[in-house]
Amino acid sequence: MIALQDIHKSFAGQEVLHGVSVQIAPGQVTALIGPSGSGKSTLLRCVNLLEIPDSGTLTVGSETLRFAPGTRPAHEAVQRIRLQTGMVFQNFQLFAHQSALHNVMEGLVTVKRWSRERARERARALLAKVGLADKADAWPANLSGGQQQRVAIARALAPEPAVLLCDEPTSALDPGLAAEVVAVLSDLAREGMTMLMATHDLRLAAQVASHTVFLEGGAIVESGLSQDLFQHPQDPRTQRFLITLQ
Ligand code: ATP
Ligand code: MG
Repeated sequence: MIALQDIHKSFAGQEVLHGVSVQIAPGQVTALIGPSGSGKSTLLRCVNLLEIPDSGTLTVGSETLRFAPGTRPAHEAVQRIRLQTGMVFQNFQLFAHQSALHNVMEGLVTVKRWSRERARERARALLAKVGLADKADAWPANLSGGQQQRVAIARALAPEPAVLLCDEPTSALDPGLAAEVVAVLSDLAREGMTMLMATHDLRLAAQVASHTVFLEGGAIVESGLSQDLFQHPQDPRTQRFLITLQ
């Protein structure tokens, strides 16, 4: 279970999340849509604690953290939540000086303290899962954008996170390469991976996410089953936003 309860976050005195609450059941995929600057990335970063919320409550799996202004949560609790979240970024963020295989292995060896042998085995299995068994020794610069993003997904999955967070996973890719990434994320959804993904890609949201949350100005305007939200948006702000995406 992933739950955000009344999450507030400010930067330099400017509040950008105004008390956001989202619940994601195990195995559920939720898309986060909304205009540029609405707070989608900030919300994702509050789940893996790349940003520490000012107040509110965050639950990831068995770990619950309450935030209060002027206090920082215990380092160990932050680490436990980070270990349970995998993150995929718009621009892949692979280690440029390492092969695809080493990108996937690295966290298992350095963070989880697995033996290199065991890590290599799992990394090979994950590369096969994202359709890149034959690219294990390739360097990121020699892979297409779609292939790089699939390596990034394999890397994020390596420590078996409770939730996979994706920030615009297809928006740096042209349609053909985006389709490869959508296919991998669809497979993961079918296998029961819990995911929260910020996206401007309606095909990704409609095809992969059972639920969609529409964020505007740092607050949730409307949320529900993706099909309902896309076909019968209730709030005029959602209706206006969906028209801009078409
Ligand atoms: P996009 O669709 O363009 O990716 P977004 O919905 O992901 O937008 P965020 O990146 O979360 O939006 O930004 C929300 C607001 O918070 C914006 O006004 C942004 O300028 C501000 N913001 C985000 N990160 C920081 C930061 N580190 N320091 C200051 N302001 C920030
Ligand atoms: Mg963003």
